[in-house]
Amino acid sequence: MRATIIYGTGDVRIETVADARLIEPTDALVAVTRACICGSDLWPYKTMEHSDTGRVMGHEAIGVVESVGADVRNLKAGDLVVMPFAYSDGSCVFCHEGLHTSCVHGGFFGTAEVAGAQAEAVRVPLADGTLYVLPVGRDDALTASLLTLSDVMGTGHHAALAARVGPGKTVAVVGDGAVGLCGVIAARRLGAEQIIILGRHADRIALAREFGATEVVSERGDEAIERVRELTGGFGVHSVLECVGLEQSMLTAVSIARPGGAVGRVGVPQDETMPASQPAFYNNVTVSGGPAPVRAYIEELLPDVLEGRIEPGRVFDRVTNLDGVPDGYRAMNEREAIKVLIEF
Ligand SMILES: [Zn+2]
Repeated sequence: MRATIIYGTGDVRIETVADARLIEPTDALVAVTRACICGSDLWPYKTMEHSDTGRVMGHEAIGVVESVGADVRNLKAGDLVVMPFAYSDGSCVFCHEGLHTSCVHGGFFGTAEVAGAQAEAVRVPLADGTLYVLPVGRDDALTASLLTLSDVMGTGHHAALAARVGPGKTVAVVGDGAVGLCGVIAARRLGAEQIIILGRHADRIALAREFGATEVVSERGDEAIERVRELTGGFGVHSVLECVGLEQSMLTAVSIARPGGAVGRVGVPQDETMPASQPAFYNNVTVSGGPAPVRAYIEELLPDVLEGRIEPGRVFDRVTNLDGVPDGYRAMNEREAIKVLIEF
């Protein structure tokens, strides 16, 4: 089969690899029909040291179940499924608490252990717990939005929950990538009154406004902090969704939270230590968040997608086939594309 392999910084290739196959009796083999490139895929694209073996990339997909292992009970060949970016058994203590990304038997796609989904097929461990059967056809018009349930929409929702967004709250979203844009959708969906997006790319800002952002702050650093305070009576916002993961963005996020507010962080942190410890302390700002348990959120978000109340699939502004994936990485890295959808 053909798959996307990253060998190092800027080095993404489409190559023929050994076919994905069932290994464990709890596995499913899924033929990928849609996948995409994630903002987090850009971190290895920008920083990975050369590897001779490379790594099959991708952790977001929709596909058709081709076959299942002997112990799989809830899935059958032909089912259309969405694959969360982490696999999980659905039965351990953390899965029961809704924190599937901490599943004691779980792990992540696109790693050394489990190959990624920017490929013609993917082996899905713990398939009963991991996969969610979609009630639509293979090429349904809602497919792009359904694909976001594998990561970015669930991640935006997680940021909003961690930031304690609720009716009447003031919210700021740091980052105008696909996750930040989905964070705007999530904040509006949860009843936020004011939603400020911090970003500077015209196309992304325009989409953020359509998704429900009420104000835009395009300044950076101290000026951005000042602007947000101006827009919120001098105090800052109740809830901040940090959707970048850099030192500067985290510093900004904590600094624009009002006393007693909360920061929900879903941008993969690129530093060992957390910035802004002192302002967080003196203002009693809660800092929460982490890898989103998107499996836990599919059931909640799915009806809104199916009934058209939210359209997170609009974050895809470029469609390609597998051969176009290396250029898709380039385009996203150069901010030419927000998010690239891969059709098979
Ligand atoms: Zn579990």
